[in-house]
Amino acid sequence: MSLSEIQARIHKAEEAAGRPIGSTQLIAVSKVQPDERVEAVLNEGHALFGENKVQEAAGKWPGFKDRFEGVSVHLLGPLQTNKVRQAMELFDAIHSLDRPKLATTVARIAGELGHCPELFIQVNTGEEDQKSGVLPADADQFIADCKELGLPIIGLMCIPPAEEEASLHFALLKKIAVRNGLEGLSMGMSGDFEKAVAFGATHVRVGSAIFGARDYG
Ligand SMILES: *Cc1c(COP(=O)(O)O)cnc(C)c1O
Repeated sequence: MSLSEIQARIHKAEEAAGRPIGSTQLIAVSKVQPDERVEAVLNEGHALFGENKVQEAAGKWPGFKDRFEGVSVHLLGPLQTNKVRQAMELFDAIHSLDRPKLATTVARIAGELGHCPELFIQVNTGEEDQKSGVLPADADQFIADCKELGLPIIGLMCIPPAEEEASLHFALLKKIAVRNGLEGLSMGMSGDFEKAVAFGATHVRVGSAIFGARDYG
């Protein structure tokens, strides 16, 4: 699907939900995609991208950022504490803040660098063992602790279980955000971004619908 088709579908979903047109940001998830596909989307004027891995992003984004103005790249995947400094230098936002050790490390390095990317706390809404994120029951405390550390928490992020109705997870994430006074909601991917917009997503993360299937071979 073309970028403009995705944008049009987002705008339609915003309208249907009674939300202002343009209130959802489209993060084009470029992980694993060949450079020429990414460059084609940059050439269309799109400037907001998402990556899953620090190393992979470090290999491609500094070069693109030199050549294209105003590009922002967000980290969507899990972050190890030994890569925090590199991630904070590379990314404009991190969507995967998910544990106290990571929060204290980010806070310490933010103090040293004098800046910090915008942060989303990942919530494991499906309480899945294999997924990162704080459990819903622990979210309020973790959000409070992060604010106490002075971290720029702008919202919450979730990845619903593949086999469950995503709406339930989007609604839960929104409820946790609202009761904690957070406005950002990073939710919705290629298969369900319109639904996420209906539930108030401020950031949808769309990969394969824009770039085509990822080839991990
Ligand atoms: C890969 C990925 C996406 C994009 O998935 P698509 O189904 O290709 O749209 C979104 N969010 C996260 C966290 C991802 O890892």
